[in-house]
Amino acid sequence: LSVGVVAETAAGERRVALVPKLAERVIRRGLRVVVEPGAGEGAGLPDELYAAAGAELATAASPARHCDIVLTVTPPSDADIARLARGTVLIGFLDPLGAPQRIEALREAGVTAFAVESIPRISRAQAMDALSSQANVSGYRAALLAAQRAPRFFPMLTTAAGTVPPATVLVLGAGVAGLQALATAKRLGAQPTGYDVRPEVAEQVRSVGAQWLDLGIEAIGEGGYARELTDDERAEQQRRLTEAIGGFDVVITTALVPGRTAPTLVTAEAVHGMRPGSVVVDLAGATGGNCALTEAGRDVVVDGVTISSPLNLPAEMPLHASELYARNLVELLELLVDAEGRLAIDPADEIVAGACVAGLPEEVA
Ligand code: NAD
Repeated sequence: LSVGVVAETAAGERRVALVPKLAERVIRRGLRVVVEPGAGEGAGLPDELYAAAGAELATAASPARHCDIVLTVTPPSDADIARLARGTVLIGFLDPLGAPQRIEALREAGVTAFAVESIPRISRAQAMDALSSQANVSGYRAALLAAQRAPRFFPMLTTAAGTVPPATVLVLGAGVAGLQALATAKRLGAQPTGYDVRPEVAEQVRSVGAQWLDLGIEAIGEGGYARELTDDERAEQQRRLTEAIGGFDVVITTALVPGRTAPTLVTAEAVHGMRPGSVVVDLAGATGGNCALTEAGRDVVVDGVTISSPLNLPAEMPLHASELYARNLVELLELLVDAEGRLAIDPADEIVAGACVAGLPEEVA
């Protein structure tokens, strides 16, 4: 069985789906690993490291995309899909809810596709949870980005030239990314406060040293996620948040509802109520943004308030993002391969059934 590692083609993507250390683990399991030349370069992982780990470098005659299993970070383009052979097992971020037409194209191409976004969030799948591993990177980088954009210190400082108070940071959406943003802001010396519509995260927010903002609106959905708010709840939430936001130097937003447009938590009115020099970092830009004034992928300044919308923070920290992601993929891969190194996809397995978005073996047969 062969495992192909592609060089990512999406603009700005510097991560790689398999790192040398984990290539070695896959090879020990009796599989061949074929790496596209330069695949790890963006993450600082030259071809030689893969070769030293026992991987083969792909050639025109034996391309990585012709392997039995193909690993990727970002979803394949139409051209990428056209280069996959029928029967290929593809594993990666495939955005099944955002781009169902791509899943249809994979199905038509005879590909068995596993979307890491669809891995059920159960304990047994925790080591495979790529949404979490990458959200952790995003949250960390979001706090650093906010600190860099802010015209002030994050920590409290007492110096001969004067004393500065700590920055106050509000994080809206305290899932994986939000909690990491809170923890990072705390480590930088800021005073963080977290908010979410899932009341059970209050404890987690407090455990990273942040305060909990309670607005009295609960919205618990399926699978541990939040549900979309009703119109009334949304209006009430925006009103209460608008009141609260003016008191913070930094607002970091991470609120998502799977398959939906991101909820607007920071209205234009809330931005107008912020002091000049305040910063909003919006991690939800790709699905519409949590701030009404967000322009996806750009920094804008409105009334002296900087609103920043980074679209791919994990790609800006590619080494560790790739290491964690590769670990997630290898854990999933090991579920799909038996002890003799043969494909053994069990459609009855909860993780397989959840993650496989096209071409489950039953369907193929
Ligand atoms: P996410 O990225 O989908 O959303 C981020 C946060 O935004 C969530 O906490 C959500 O509650 C919040 N949110 C959504 N709408 C909101 C609104 N209108 N106002 C305020 N906040 C809003 O979430 P995630 O980080 O992927 O985590 C989702 C859940 O999955 C969490 O409960 C997390 O603990 C859980 N999880 C479980 C496992 C596991 O057991 N294997 C692993 C990782 C995460």
